[in-house]
Amino acid sequence: MVNERTLIIVKPDALNRDLAGEAISRFERKGLKIVAMKMEHLPVYKLKEHYAHLAEKAFFEELIKYMSSIPSILMVLEGKEACKVARKLIGGTYGREAEPGTLRGDYSVSNQMNLVHASETPEIAEKEIKNFFAEKEIFEYNKTNFDWIYARDSKGEIV
Ligand code: UDP
Ligand code: MG
Repeated sequence: MVNERTLIIVKPDALNRDLAGEAISRFERKGLKIVAMKMEHLPVYKLKEHYAHLAEKAFFEELIKYMSSIPSILMVLEGKEACKVARKLIGGTYGREAEPGTLRGDYSVSNQMNLVHASETPEIAEKEIKNFFAEKEIFEYNKTNFDWIYARDSKGEIV
C-alpha cells in the first residue's frame, strides 16, 4: 500500500529561519507525494488537541506558545510507510542529539525548536490529519514519475 499518510507541520521556527522550503524540498525529493498543503496560524485549541498527550509536561505551555506564535505550513504526505520514512527524515526530537543528515540533525540545536512535526504512526497520523484537514482539502492524483519512484517485484507488489 503506497497511500499511507502522514501529517507534517513545518513549524514556526522553520518559517522564522527561512527553512520552510528546505524542509518541504527534502520530503519531496525523497519521493513522498504531497497530497495536501496549506498555511495556517494554528489556534491554541487545535494545538492543545494535537499535543494532548503532552499536557502534563512542564514544557507544555511554552510548546503551545511557540507553536501558536506565527503561522505554520501543514502538509499531508503519502507513500509506502510514509510515517516511518518521514520520521527518519526529520530525526530525533532533540536537535542536538538528532542524527546529522536529518532535518533536525542539520538545522536544530534545541529540544523544543526542532523545525518539523511528523506523525509517529499511521493510526496517529489519521487522527492528526482529521484535526487539521478537511477531506476535500486532500487531493487524489497520479504523478507521472510514480514508476521511477517505486519498483514492482515479481508478484506485482510495490517495492
Ligand atoms: N518538546 C519540548 N521539550 C521536550 C520534548 C518535546 O519542547 O523535552 C516539544 C518539541 O517541539 C517536540 C514536541 O514537543 O517536537 C512534541 O514532542 P514529542 O515527544 O512528540 O516529539 P516529536 O514527536 O516531535 O519528535
Ligand atoms: Mg510526537
